[in-house]
Amino acid sequence: MRLRKSLMISAIALSGVLALSACVDSGAPTEEETPTEEVVEFEAGTTMAELNEAGAITIGTKFDQPLFGQVDASGDPQGFDVEIAKIIASKLGIPESGIIWTETQSANREPFIQSGEVDIVVATYTINDKRKEVISFAGPYYMAGQSILTLADNKDIKSEKDLTGQPVCSVTGSTPAAKLAEIGAEPVLTDTYSNCLEPLRTGQVVAVSTDNVILAGLAAQNEGEFKVVGKPFTEEPYGIGLAKDDTEFRDWINDVLEEAYEDGSYEEAWNSTAGTVLEYVEPPAVDRY
Ligand code: GLU
Repeated sequence: MRLRKSLMISAIALSGVLALSACVDSGAPTEEETPTEEVVEFEAGTTMAELNEAGAITIGTKFDQPLFGQVDASGDPQGFDVEIAKIIASKLGIPESGIIWTETQSANREPFIQSGEVDIVVATYTINDKRKEVISFAGPYYMAGQSILTLADNKDIKSEKDLTGQPVCSVTGSTPAAKLAEIGAEPVLTDTYSNCLEPLRTGQVVAVSTDNVILAGLAAQNEGEFKVVGKPFTEEPYGIGLAKDDTEFRDWINDVLEEAYEDGSYEEAWNSTAGTVLEYVEPPAVDRY
């Protein structure tokens, strides 16, 4: 697996205080860094023990979705999903320098989990039965809903009803793409939502449709150009994808989420990322299916 240069540099920078052993604390954390757990012990043979011992975890997230997962100028992903992932890594006793971020697009999330290319996926990832056939989910940790983005001066599109027979951009392998076909729109599919913006600008599509929070991020990033219209018309419970039937790992991540709801770190993660644009809502109860 490829270790990005910035990670290598920060790993080297930290090496003075960070023993290579996984369960050793990285010393006093910087203000921005999610503190690593002091001492963590896991039952031998569990995924948690393996990751802890390796001192590294490969995490799939989005790289071009403002507020949830987007790489900054130095190539490090930022956003709410990224913060949730950092909380999980920290509870595994893995410092931020031990996180290997991998871009996952909507269509390759299940394959990346199935092949072991990533250990977990935290990427605006809707829990549903079809996906549960091949992977497992911890969570949900957030409830989004499908919505619509149009040009700021569009007066014709007010709800999903106005999308019938119209070309609408979304992403291959996503739940919104399937819903668009279901409601009689003409889905125009690409690989990431940011790739939908140019077709919207040029009039090749009349709207972009995906989760409200993704659209809110794109609208905020391109102020004055686009607007989110209508009410969310689906429920998109966001889960953390992991290998199918790794029940111990799933239960453990659910425990970590519940702890984060209790100790304020979930709310803090929200406020420092998506919360700069969107209102805070209490997290949904985890589903220990
Ligand atoms: N939450 C939806 C999904 O998992 C849409 C967002 C995305 O494609 O990441 O398919």
